[in-house]
Amino acid sequence: MIRVLHPATPPSDDTMGSWGRAAAQPAISEALFALHEHAANVAALHRPVCLSSGRCCHFADHGHVLLVTGLEAAWVYQRLAVPTPTEETSRPSAKGVCAHLKGGQCAIHSIRPLGCRAYFCDAGQGPWQATLAESLHSAVRRLHDEYSVEYLCAEWTWLAAVLEGANERGLLKAGPLP
Ligand code: SF4
Repeated sequence: MIRVLHPATPPSDDTMGSWGRAAAQPAISEALFALHEHAANVAALHRPVCLSSGRCCHFADHGHVLLVTGLEAAWVYQRLAVPTPTEETSRPSAKGVCAHLKGGQCAIHSIRPLGCRAYFCDAGQGPWQATLAESLHSAVRRLHDEYSVEYLCAEWTWLAAVLEGANERGLLKAGPLP
């Protein structure tokens, strides 16, 4: 069972810094890439139809909740360019739409969270998606434990907004990325 925390306040700078340092470790990157591959292989077995409708990214409209851990979210945000103060940032909208949905397409497709890789709105699909999502989340939870990285699992738009701010402040920066 996924344990979800709903923190009343953002994680501390120390916590986010530790996520950033961990996310920059090659072994963690390799583990996440392997989970991406596993998710793709499982999805390929079931052949869900994806019409690129963007429905899975409109959380409020479709009652979909995307959960991501601090480590995985830091890994994603570490790989995004830090905008300059004059650039438009990609903060989540108040309508519950993912900030990375651009023109109906995922702008961070290659590094999107695991939860995005285990959810399809294809009505003809069975419970395999929930099983996959649980197993992927458990694997990331084990990475938190194995590398002694503080565990926090939260709703994506909330965590993304928090980490975008952390990224702009350089908290997630940790050298060359694998
Ligand atoms: S990261 Fe990409 S696939 Fe995931 S919810 Fe956002 S736009 Fe959709």
